[in-house]
Amino acid sequence: MILFAQSPTSPFHLHTVRVGRVTDLSPSFRRFTLTGDRLDSFADNGFDQRIKLILPIERHGLSTMPRTDDWYALWRELPQEHRNPIRTYTVREVRAELREIDVDVVVHPVDGPASAWAESAVIGDELIVLGPNAHHDGVHGGVDFLPPPHAERILLAGDETALPAIAAILERLPAEASGHAIVEVPHSDDAVCMTSHPGFTVEVLARDHRARGELLVPAVQAAAPNLLRSEGTATTQRAELSDVDVDVEMLWEVPSDDHGGPAQQDAPLYAWLAGEAGVIKTLRRHLVSELGIDRKSVAFMGYWRLGRAEG
Ligand SMILES: Cc1cc2nc3c(=O)[nH]c(=O)nc-3n(C[C@H](O)[C@H](O)[C@H](O)COP(=O)(O)OP(=O)(O)OC[C@H]3O[C@@H](n4cnc5c(N)ncnc54)[C@H](O)[C@@H]3O)c2cc1C
Repeated sequence: MILFAQSPTSPFHLHTVRVGRVTDLSPSFRRFTLTGDRLDSFADNGFDQRIKLILPIERHGLSTMPRTDDWYALWRELPQEHRNPIRTYTVREVRAELREIDVDVVVHPVDGPASAWAESAVIGDELIVLGPNAHHDGVHGGVDFLPPPHAERILLAGDETALPAIAAILERLPAEASGHAIVEVPHSDDAVCMTSHPGFTVEVLARDHRARGELLVPAVQAAAPNLLRSEGTATTQRAELSDVDVDVEMLWEVPSDDHGGPAQQDAPLYAWLAGEAGVIKTLRRHLVSELGIDRKSVAFMGYWRLGRAEG
C-alpha cells in the first residue's frame, strides 16, 4: 500500500519523480533531469544541498516504499528484499517553476544500485527523491557549506563526486568571494562539468590511470599555504587530531553553530573538502595538523568509501 501522509511543512519531502531527460555531459557524468508534479515546492537552497535518491527494486519497483513522515523508521523495518536502496546526491539545479531538478551522477564502473540505475535509466523511469521543502520555515539541513560571513579566502577541494557541489557553490557565491577550487576527475573531458568564478582559481585535474588523490593531495598542499598567506592572516597553531578510522567510522565534520549557521564570523581561510573518505582524511590532516588551520574553519566530508557501499 502506498501512503502519502507527509506534513505540508516538514523540512524534507519525498517526491515521486520521473526521468525527464538524460544528458551525457562528459565521459564520467550523466545528468538526470527529474520531473514531478510537486517539485514546485522543492526548495532551491543551492550550494551543496544534499538529497536522497530512492531507487526502484526488482519485481516491486517503488511499491513497498513507505511515504509518510516516519518513512525512515518504516523503511528500516522492511525485509531486505522490499527495501529500496537509498543513495545520497547533490541537487545540481532546481527549476521549481518548471517542476524540474538536475542531478549529475558519476557513472562509476563498480557495481552499486545507483551506478547500475544510472547506466540503464531511461526517460519515464520512476524514482523517489527526498528533498528540502520550500514550505518549511526553518533551516532544512543538508547544506554543509557554511563559511564564516567574513572568510578572507575559501578553498574547495574534492573528487568527481564533489564536482556537482563545488560547481553549485561557485555559482552561488557572491562576485567578491575569492579562493581556489580544485577537483580531481577521472578524465580530462570531465572538465566541461566545472564552472568558473571571477574570484577563484579553478583547477580540474584529470586522474587518468593514477591512484585516487595522487593529483588532488599535492595540489591542495600547494594551494593552501598561498591562501593563508594573505595580508593580516593570524599565525595559527597546529592542532592534534583524533584519528578517524574511515573503515569503521564516518568521516564527516561540519563546523556549525547551534542554529545550523557558520561556526565562526570570520576566518583567514575556510576549507570545504569532500570525496573518497581516505583521500579526504589525508587532506584534513594536512590542513589542520600540518598547516594549523583552525578546525572550526574546515568542513570535511567522506562522500563515499572505496570498497564500501553507502549505508
Ligand atoms: C552529501 C553527498 C553528496 C553526493 N553527491 C554526489 C553527486 O552529486 N554525484 C555523484 O555521482 N555522487 C555523489 N555522492 C557520492 C555517491 O553517494 C556515492 O558515490 C554512492 O556510493 C554511489 O552509490 P552506488 O549505489 O553507485 O554505490 P554503493 O552501493 O554505495 O557502493 C558500491 C561500490 O561502489 C564504490 N563506489 C561508490 N561510489 C564510487 C565512485 N564515485 N567511483 C568509484 N567507485 C565508487 C564503493 O566503494 C563500493 O565498492 C555524494 C555523496 C554524499 C554523501
